[in-house]
Amino acid sequence: MHARRVRGTTRRTSDLRAVTLRVHTARLSYVGVDRLDITRAGADAYRKRTGLTGEGEPWAPSWTIVWPIIKLRREVRDLGAYADSVLLAAWRAYEPAFTAEMRNSYRRNRAAWDALLARPSVTLCCTCTNPDQCHRRIVARLLVACGAVDCGERPDRRQ
Ligand SMILES: [Zn+2]
Repeated sequence: MHARRVRGTTRRTSDLRAVTLRVHTARLSYVGVDRLDITRAGADAYRKRTGLTGEGEPWAPSWTIVWPIIKLRREVRDLGAYADSVLLAAWRAYEPAFTAEMRNSYRRNRAAWDALLARPSVTLCCTCTNPDQCHRRIVARLLVACGAVDCGERPDRRQ
């Protein structure tokens, strides 16, 4: 049997053939029909409101890794170029930690990943202003590793 390794897990080539998902990313202000909120806050709010698992929960970071980043962004907000270097260093630590969480998510929530990959399109949404330091771009890359097509970040209409 032909098999392909995807981030520590195996997908059969027969699984890959069906994937036609087109992946965009955007800020939470995006309102298209393919919008998927993948924020931790969004997943928690949905769970609190309905008692159910939010649709975007499998791709949301844990508070353990995301809270230090949120706190740091607030602390260095007015520090200009120094803030940029601090946030870049924090991002370099966050990226492998979040990728490891997604590896676990792929194993635990395989049905949700497969259902997402079977869609024609999705726009992964988060609050972060910089998509290059946001988990939405990591999730997009992981979906591409599963056969999806990356269509990039949508322009922010509020700017
Ligand atoms: Zn984000």
